[in-house]
Amino acid sequence: MPREAGGRGGAGRERVLTPEDLQIAGLVPLSTVDWPGRFAASLFFQGCPWLCPYCQNSAIIDPRIPGVVSWSALEDLLARRRGLLDGVVFSGGEATRQIALAAGMRRVRELGFGVGLHTAGPYPGRVAALLDEGLVDWVGIDVKATPDEYEAVAGRPGAGARAWESLAAVLSHPEVDHEVRLTVYPDGPADGLEVARRVREGGARAFALQQARDIGTPDGFRSRANGWDDQVRALAADIEALGFDRFEFRPAD
Ligand code: SF4
Repeated sequence: MPREAGGRGGAGRERVLTPEDLQIAGLVPLSTVDWPGRFAASLFFQGCPWLCPYCQNSAIIDPRIPGVVSWSALEDLLARRRGLLDGVVFSGGEATRQIALAAGMRRVRELGFGVGLHTAGPYPGRVAALLDEGLVDWVGIDVKATPDEYEAVAGRPGAGARAWESLAAVLSHPEVDHEVRLTVYPDGPADGLEVARRVREGGARAFALQQARDIGTPDGFRSRANGWDDQVRALAADIEALGFDRFEFRPAD
């Protein structure tokens, strides 16, 4: 059985982590959008180290709150939906904050389902390790700004270096399908086209531009402004012209 460092067995010790160690905040039995082109169940994990103003899952970013869904609920679902579901998406919060994530992915693999990962990339070493072990079939990775502007979005120093390092890890695995996502909002950085250009130069094949919405966001977030829809549509056209193999624009409405 795999052993992983950093468990709860005491300083300097290792313990076997199991999927039951995962802090699951929610389980969506069927999603057709969380893993584009696939039918997936989605797991939402508690906790995220970042504080994005447009976070739609702001209710689950506090890491001190325990999970409320058992791992067995997922396994029961997969047993009932065999042949109907393609895979499981590990989402958040921030899925890679969970030190038992690999254990959960291995178990999903054993059960014969595909594995998708949503991440904002705050733990690049963990993203790389999951990919190196071949545990992930598809990654949806957020890139929120250029490195210089990142802290203004993620709310933490050093976030940009971590996110872009995680993106590099994803793009170093061409066998793993991916989608890079940029979410824009009126008071956010104005460097969206530059973000997309750098992502394209890094070798990304698929890109999605997402217009932030109000639903689930922290108090005080503003998703609309005069002329904002037109600005975002113009940005979408500019990004589409960069020539990604796949580009999707997800407007707020
Ligand atoms: S990285 Fe994602 S989950 Fe974390 S605060 Fe930002 S939007 Fe929310």
